[in-house]
Parts: sequence; structure tokens; C-alpha cells
Amino acid sequence: MVTIAVDGPSGSGKSSVSRAVAAHLGLAYLDTGAMYRAATLWCVRTGVPLADAADVAAAVRAMPLEMGLDPAAPGIVLDGDDVAAAIRTGDVTAAVSQVATNLEVRAELRRRQRAIIAAEQDGGFSSGRGIVAEGRDITTVVAPDADARVLLTASEEARLRRRSLEVHGTADATSVEATKDQVLRRDRDDATVSTFHTAADGVVTVDSSDLDFDQTVAAVLVVAERATV
Ligand code: C5P
Repeated sequence: MVTIAVDGPSGSGKSSVSRAVAAHLGLAYLDTGAMYRAATLWCVRTGVPLADAADVAAAVRAMPLEMGLDPAAPGIVLDGDDVAAAIRTGDVTAAVSQVATNLEVRAELRRRQRAIIAAEQDGGFSSGRGIVAEGRDITTVVAPDADARVLLTASEEARLRRRSLEVHGTADATSVEATKDQVLRRDRDDATVSTFHTAADGVVTVDSSDLDFDQTVAAVLVVAERATV
């Protein structure tokens, strides 16, 4: 059983890179950001005001969420409903940090994330081979004893350009400007509860600013293979 933890700021490419690494190594894949997004959507759908911290925490503790762990098609089902698209709307992206900075919500989702990781130890999607888990606090809090821990970074410019291409299909000045809230403001808010700009002891930094996708995957695979052979 191998556990690979990947953290990084918004636009660092950690989701697509982690999926490719998991597929390459035959491991399960856990997108923890999707869980915070689902928690946000759940509160919106059940009419819980995001500012009511105790009510939000209670709602998230009762949230019926199933995480798909297949890196080729990581589904996410909330109360029987496939919410893969619904959790990626601009509204959810703009609101998610408010839910993710609720410490009781973090305690609940971390508990679920650790349970998912542990279930891959002797069974689960990977039949005991292991898992790649990615987010903001996996290398530091959720799985600090992971076999390989990577902080995936990129310059602010590269991250804004990537997110702009992803969301608007272009990286012209207007689109980059429109992406700033989703990247810079969100990172600022998220950084009040997690450390994902600098690597903790034992965490290897991979800077993808000047790497293309395949080169970034290869760099993470080197760290993973070095730590797990
Ligand atoms: O990675 P993604 O952009 O989908 O993450 C969505 C949000 O989930 C982040 O902006 C952050 O608020 C929260 N998050 C977190 N801790 C994690 C993963 C995500 O707080 N481990």
C-alpha cells in the first residue's frame, strides 16, 4: 500500500497531475477539494446560510456524500445526485473558502478523508495498492506520514494563465483579470487555515511554472517512485 500526498495552490495543476500519476501507478485518486465544494453545494441546496458556522458544521456532518476514486472517471455523488458539474460553477468556487475555513467542517472532512485513505490499505478501489490524495492540507495534516509528499507550485502568472484558459478558454488581459478572485483571493482565504505555499519538512517542491503537463507528471512520478521503491 502506498499513499501519495499532493498539495498546492489554485491553478497549480494538482488535480490533473494527481489523476495522471494515480492512473500511471494503478492507484485510487482522492480529490479533497471536491469534498469542500460538495459541502458548499450541500449547504446551498439545503438552505443553510454559509455564515452560520455551527449550522454549516452540523449540515456537513450529516452530508450524504460518495466519492468516486477512479482516476479515469472520479465521480462524486451527493444525496444520490451526480454533482461533478454542479460543484465547479463560479458560485460554488466563489463561496467554497467560507465553508473550508470553518474548523468544524475541516475536522469532519479530514475524518472522512483519512477513512477513505485507510480503506485503500487492504481493499477499496485499488485492491490495496494505495492512493493519491490531493488538496491543501494533505501533506501536512491529513496524511503527514504519506510515503511521498509533494507540494506542486507555479508562479502566480502561470497559475492565473492556466485557470483563465480553463474557465474562459483564453488568457487575454480581461480573462486573466476576471480569474483573479478565483485564484488569488481564494488562496489568500484558504491560506488562513492551511499551509500550501511553502513545503513542510520532508515535502518535495515541484515547480511547474516552466514545465508542460507531461513534464510535471514525470517530475511527480520521480518523487513517488523514489519514495516507494
Ligand atoms: O482544489 P479545489 O480548487 O477544487 O479546492 C476547492 C476549495 O476547497 C479550496 O479553495 C479550499 O477552500 C478547499 N480545500 C481545502 N483543503 C483541501 C482541499 C480543498 O480547504 N485539502
